Amino acid sequence: MDISHIEHIGIAVKNLDESIEKYEKLFNIKCYAIEEVKDQKVKTAFFKIGQTKIELLEGTDPESAISKFIEKRGEGVQHIAFAVKNIDNVLDELKNKNVQLIDEKPRRGAEGLSIAFLHPKSTGGVLIELCENKND
Ligand code: ZN
Repeated sequence: MDISHIEHIGIAVKNLDESIEKYEKLFNIKCYAIEEVKDQKVKTAFFKIGQTKIELLEGTDPESAISKFIEKRGEGVQHIAFAVKNIDNVLDELKNKNVQLIDEKPRRGAEGLSIAFLHPKSTGGVLIELCENKND
């Protein structure tokens, strides 16, 4: 299994614009991309800290995973994303280890990455996302 680094940390926020401003002011970092991912019903904003990104996420629909997360637990860290090579192989390997997968097959995430989520039940209560940048 080829995991190279933490690709990003996903943080659920109620108001993307306010949170972007807060992060820019607090940490003196600049948001470099804002993107809506329609099939996940989220708007995302990205910051870079070294080779790891911070992904702020706001739900665009009460039914989005982000809106439901905030309703249950409030704003905060929602997922951790690992950068992997050969995401299909990684998913197969995890399936063989009886890890419960939210996505059996990779799909397109923000920034054009191939992504798949693992079920927190299998990972100690942490939502883990796998990401592969096929352009690397
Ligand atoms: Zn993510």
